[in-house]
Formats: sequence, structure tokens, C-alpha cells
Amino acid sequence: MIIVMKSGAGKKEKDEVLKRIRELGYNPHVIHGTTRDVIGAIGDERGKLALQEIESMKGVESVVPILQPYKLASKEVMKDSSLVKISDTVTIGGSKIIIMAGPCSVESEKQIIESAEAVKSAGGDILRGGAFKPRTSPYSFQGLEEGGLKLLAKARDLTGLPIVTEVINPETAELVAGYADILQIGARNSQNFALLKKVGQLKKPVLLKRGMAMTIQELLMSAEYILAEGNQSVILCERGIRTFETATRNTLDLSAIPVLRSKTHLPIVIDPSHATGNHHYVSPMSLAAVAAGADGLIIEVHPDPEHASSDGPQSLKPAKFALLMEKMRRVAEAVDRTI
Ligand code: PEP
Ligand code: MN
Repeated sequence: MIIVMKSGAGKKEKDEVLKRIRELGYNPHVIHGTTRDVIGAIGDERGKLALQEIESMKGVESVVPILQPYKLASKEVMKDSSLVKISDTVTIGGSKIIIMAGPCSVESEKQIIESAEAVKSAGGDILRGGAFKPRTSPYSFQGLEEGGLKLLAKARDLTGLPIVTEVINPETAELVAGYADILQIGARNSQNFALLKKVGQLKKPVLLKRGMAMTIQELLMSAEYILAEGNQSVILCERGIRTFETATRNTLDLSAIPVLRSKTHLPIVIDPSHATGNHHYVSPMSLAAVAAGADGLIIEVHPDPEHASSDGPQSLKPAKFALLMEKMRRVAEAVDRTI
């Protein structure tokens, strides 16, 4: 249920409503809107009728059911798009499209600093780089782990770029959160509910990737796990899904952008690198993502892709990334956005 407060409702009235929601056995989640607050009352729906009584409380405008199975992620709870603040200068979900870029994995100090400088000088907003890598083969490079996180922090100190990096299990989530500005949940872990609950309890924005065989509804249900734990800073990421087509690594579902837009207030990011698996296809799909309304992109960029420890074939060289930034700016302008 959503409890819509009157626009003039004060703190005392809101506190009374929060108290009553708890007494009725629900968890309240306050969502601050531009003109008024709404409170999501989330929990077992068997007591649904009892919540209706809140409608007669002071300061309450209405009590309405949330029809979708994802409650806090639903547009029903908040009509405006969520703004996810990453740093004093970077916010995702507004009119500026946020570009995250960097190597698949952090490999060395030289590699991550060079990458960060390239991202910065091309006008990127956030540095990406994996320190804990979820690899298909146990014999592939697994990442530099905490050493990699330290190198990312160093690159952030040098460039001022916030960092996004993957967290692969609940045990190391706090360690990663100690360094990262955004916690990335990878495609392979997007229905790891223990991990989703864990990052829901941390006070860091989460970039949640769509699993390779996940429906849009399932993606929103995974987001709901994070939101239900109290973390409202969730960013969704479409990174390609498995289809019968083998010409690309995955099939980029660009229609996920307008579909998600109609269902959720959460920001939407596109990953054209993992979606295509081929650096030749990254630029056209990036431009298409900007045109289709993405709030951000996450793009793999490597100074020496031929020798990358992971995902070299889909990584852009810095010069090509800089050129792509220029083109994306022009497309963004055409859809009334900036980059
Ligand atoms: C990555 O970002 O390097 C990664 C492993 O992505 P995904 O989880 O989308 O495969
Ligand atoms: Mn990768």
C-alpha cells in the first residue's frame, strides 16, 4: 500500500503514520517527493484491509494499493524519476547522461591510472574497474581483490572520478563498500538474494545488472530486494540477454529502456560492452542507447586491449572512446539531454 501524505503534512503527522504502520506489522519506507511525501507500507499482504484505516489519520490524503509485485521499485510509488547521488558533482537519473568507463579488470597501477586519465580527459564521469571478478572459468584471472580496490582509490584520488566496482559475495561486500562509490552487482549474481539483501543494508548506491536470462519483471524484483532493506539508491543496468543469436556475445535489449521507464522510477544504464562483446559494435549501440533514453552508460575502455586480462575484444582504446564521447554528446542534444 502507498500512503500519500497531504502536501502540508508535518513531521508529527508523518511520525504518527509511521508508528501505526509498524503497529500493523508493516515496514514503512518514506519516499520524498517534490511536493509531498509518500510512505510505502511493505510486508505480508494478508493484513491489507487494516492499512486502509490509516486513510482517516491526520495529514493523510489517501491510501492506495500498489498493484505490481515490485512495490518500492514501481512507478506507482513515485511518478518522478529517482535521482541517485554518487558524489557532490555526479547524480544519475537527471537530464545529464552519466558515463562510466574503464577496464573490465584492474590489472596494475599503470593500467588503471592510464585508464582513469583517459576517461577523465574524454569527459567521462565515473571510473569502472573490477577487483573481484566473477569469471566463467576458475582458471581465468580472478582479479587483484583488495589490492585492486586500493589502486581504484588511488585513481580516484588522482582524477576525482568516483569509482564503480563489482561485489561478488556478502562476505566481501563491506570491504568493497569501504572503497567504492557504487557497488556493482554483476549479471551472474543478480538473483543472489543473500547478496542483494546485504547491499540493501549498506549505504552505497548499487548498480544492479540484469541477469543474462532474466525478464524485466525479475530485474525489478531483484531491485526490490535492495530497496526493501532500506537502500533507495538503486540503478538498473541492461547488459544484454541470451538469445539464439551468436553473432554478438549477448543481445542488447534496448527496448528495456522505454519498458523500464514505464514501470519504474529507478535510473536506467546501458552496458554496450558486455551486450555486444565486440569493440566494433560498442559505439553504434552506445549512440542508440543515448537516443533511446538511457540515463547512463558503462563502457569498457582499456589502454592496451590486446593484452587485457579480461574482455579485451570488447574494450575501446582511449582515442576511440574520446571520439564516441563526442558523438554521444551530439545525439544527447537531439533528445534534450547533456553528457
Ligand atoms: C563486468 O562488468 O565486467 C561484468 C562482469 O559484467 P556482467 O556482470 O554484466 O557480465
Ligand atoms: Mn567485463
